[in-house]
Amino acid sequence: MPLSTAELRALDKQHLWHPFTPMKLWMESDSLVIVAAEGMHLIDSDGNRYLDGVSSLWCNVHGHRVPEIDDAVRAQLDKVAHSTMLGLAGEQPILLADRLMKIVPRNLKKVFYSDAGATATEVAFKMAAQYWYNVGRPEKNQFVGFAEAYHGDTVGAMSIGRMPAFHRPYFPLMFTVQFAPTPYVYRSSTPDDPQAVKEHCLTALQKILEEHGDRIAAVCIEPIVQGAGGMIVQPEGFLRGVRELTKRHDALLIADEVAVGFGRTGKMFACEHEGVEPDLMCVAKGITGGYLPLAATFTTQQIFDAFLGEPWEGKTFYHGHTYTGNPLACASAIASLDLFEKKDLLRSVQKKTCALTGMLEELRNLRHVGDIRQKGYMVGIELVKDKGTREPFDPRRRVGAEICMAVRKHSVILRPLGDVVVMMPPLAMEEKDLRTIIDALRREIAVLA
Ligand code: PLP
Repeated sequence: MPLSTAELRALDKQHLWHPFTPMKLWMESDSLVIVAAEGMHLIDSDGNRYLDGVSSLWCNVHGHRVPEIDDAVRAQLDKVAHSTMLGLAGEQPILLADRLMKIVPRNLKKVFYSDAGATATEVAFKMAAQYWYNVGRPEKNQFVGFAEAYHGDTVGAMSIGRMPAFHRPYFPLMFTVQFAPTPYVYRSSTPDDPQAVKEHCLTALQKILEEHGDRIAAVCIEPIVQGAGGMIVQPEGFLRGVRELTKRHDALLIADEVAVGFGRTGKMFACEHEGVEPDLMCVAKGITGGYLPLAATFTTQQIFDAFLGEPWEGKTFYHGHTYTGNPLACASAIASLDLFEKKDLLRSVQKKTCALTGMLEELRNLRHVGDIRQKGYMVGIELVKDKGTREPFDPRRRVGAEICMAVRKHSVILRPLGDVVVMMPPLAMEEKDLRTIIDALRREIAVLA
């Protein structure tokens, strides 16, 4: 006999501590308990179905219980669920690497697996620092990050992607990072002139690199869309400008594609929008189609070669995780890449993106919609108290969370970033379901007091 909703909730409150969740509020509320899923829907313990409007935290690609991915994981279970990559090679990690190398920017020649976005970025930071150390320039050990960027919750990732709202208590643990401004056009002094915002931010980055370039190992960026900072879409040419500056000042460029990678912005990788080839690139989330934890950090032959040496020379990259390159996760990633091809998913996302843009326009005139930002299937709707002055709501009201709770009445699951309501559906979501989400948002935002 399965446990009742009340029993599951009671056990949840007794035992669990949820991520990124104010637990006092949680203990006072009745949560949905997800027990199953099908296609675009999550199903709760009372049998209610909800559209998965945030791809189960930005990772689901083809929907849930996709036969091709389920079968690939089951087939792998009949072979081996896990074996280590420390000192052994494995069939699935090899086959996946071969597939990935055909789709990543062409300058990237090596892949290092880990298991979460935060570990993928930590790996990139450590590789960058050790690269300079190994080539005899150990003084190049500092990083440049962007304001409001997010790279995960491990200490290195927090240091470079430092969001005061999340990370303030840990500031004393973090290393020194130079921060460049983010081109957040809507909150800039020239919201009608994205190119001016771009120039301002690039000039600030240039100054940092002129002043500190000799010490800088790498600049780290979330390319095209800065996700957790509020779905901030960068003005055209910004990423290219960052790439040019890093080249000029001999700093590596780390592209954190954890959120934007695997088709979210309409290209397989966001860097492709501006023809940028980073020196290191991090992916996670969508790599397995949103099935299992897997991450990867890609790098160039030049960086890889700097780590070659005799064991006693100290050039080895001493980093690894127990589940690095897990075969089940790699099998689901290969099945997911097959589906990208079989369903011509990128082209279909590009087509559906236009329809989504049209639907989002219907929200623009609502009294509390300040800004709508979209790139492909990544959408942020910034709610404001006063549209004319861009005055935000009192943060204690948690208006983004209020809307996300309200749309559950319409069988939609969304999750906000502060006052920005995020919509980031699985890439396979069709227009009919996109329409349901937009209608739910329109109805609930329209009645916001
Ligand atoms: N980098 C970016 C850009 C992200 O958006 C995230 C998570 O949202 C991460 C890194 C961290 O990924 P994970 O939660 O898998 O550690």
